[in-house]
Amino acid sequence: MNNMLKYLIDLQAIDRQLFEIDEKKGSLPQQVEKLESQAATVKSELENTRVTLEDNQKELITIKGGLMDAEGKVKKYQDQLYLVTTNREYDALTNEIETVKAEMANMEARQLLLETEIEKLDETISTSEEQSTAFIEQLDANRDELKEKSDLTDAHQEELEAQRAELVKNIGQRYLRKYERILKARRRAVVPIERSACTGCHKQLNPQTIYEIQQMDAFIECENCGRILVHIEEDDS
Ligand SMILES: [Zn+2]
Repeated sequence: MNNMLKYLIDLQAIDRQLFEIDEKKGSLPQQVEKLESQAATVKSELENTRVTLEDNQKELITIKGGLMDAEGKVKKYQDQLYLVTTNREYDALTNEIETVKAEMANMEARQLLLETEIEKLDETISTSEEQSTAFIEQLDANRDELKEKSDLTDAHQEELEAQRAELVKNIGQRYLRKYERILKARRRAVVPIERSACTGCHKQLNPQTIYEIQQMDAFIECENCGRILVHIEEDDS
C-alpha cells in the first residue's frame, strides 16, 4: 500500500504533464495553418499587382502604336489638303483630320492615365517585394519553428505515455479506476494535507485521519471531495 500511494503521486505528475501538453498542442496546428495562409495571401497580392502592371504596360504599347498610326493619318490628310481642288474635298479632309485628332486626344488622355498608374504600380511592387520577401521568410521560419515544437511535443508525449504504461502496472485496477474517475472530475485526484486540511477542498480533518494519512499506508479519501489524501514530507531546503 505504501508504495502504491507513491505510484499514484508519480502517476498524477505524469498525467498533469500530459494534460499540459494536450492544452499546448491544441492550437499549434491552427497557428501553422494561419501562418501558411498569411504567406499565401501576401504572395497572391503581389502576383495580382504584377499582373495589373503587365496589363497596363501592354495597353500602353497598343495606345502608343495607335497614336503613331493616327499621327501618320493626320500627316497624310494634311499633305492631301495641298492637292485638293474643290471645297467639298477640302471639307471632307478637314473633317477626317478633326475626327482623327479627337481620337488622338482620347488616346493621349488614356496614355497619361496608364503612365501614372504604371509608375504607381512599379513603386508598389518594388517596396512591397522587399517587404513581402522578408515577411514570407519570417512566416516560413515561424511555421518551421512551430512544426519543430510540435514534433518535440509529440516525442515528449510518447515518452510520458510509455512511462505511464509502466507505472500503472504497479497500481491495482480498483485504485486506478478510482484515481482516474476523480482526476476526470476534479483535475487533481491525489492531494497532500496541509494545516490539517485537504488541499483539494480545504475541509478540516480530524487528528485520527491525519495520523493515518501521515503513515502513508492506507488509501484514504477526503470525505468531502473524494480526493485521495496523502502526506508529502516538507522540503526545507
Ligand atoms: Zn477534500
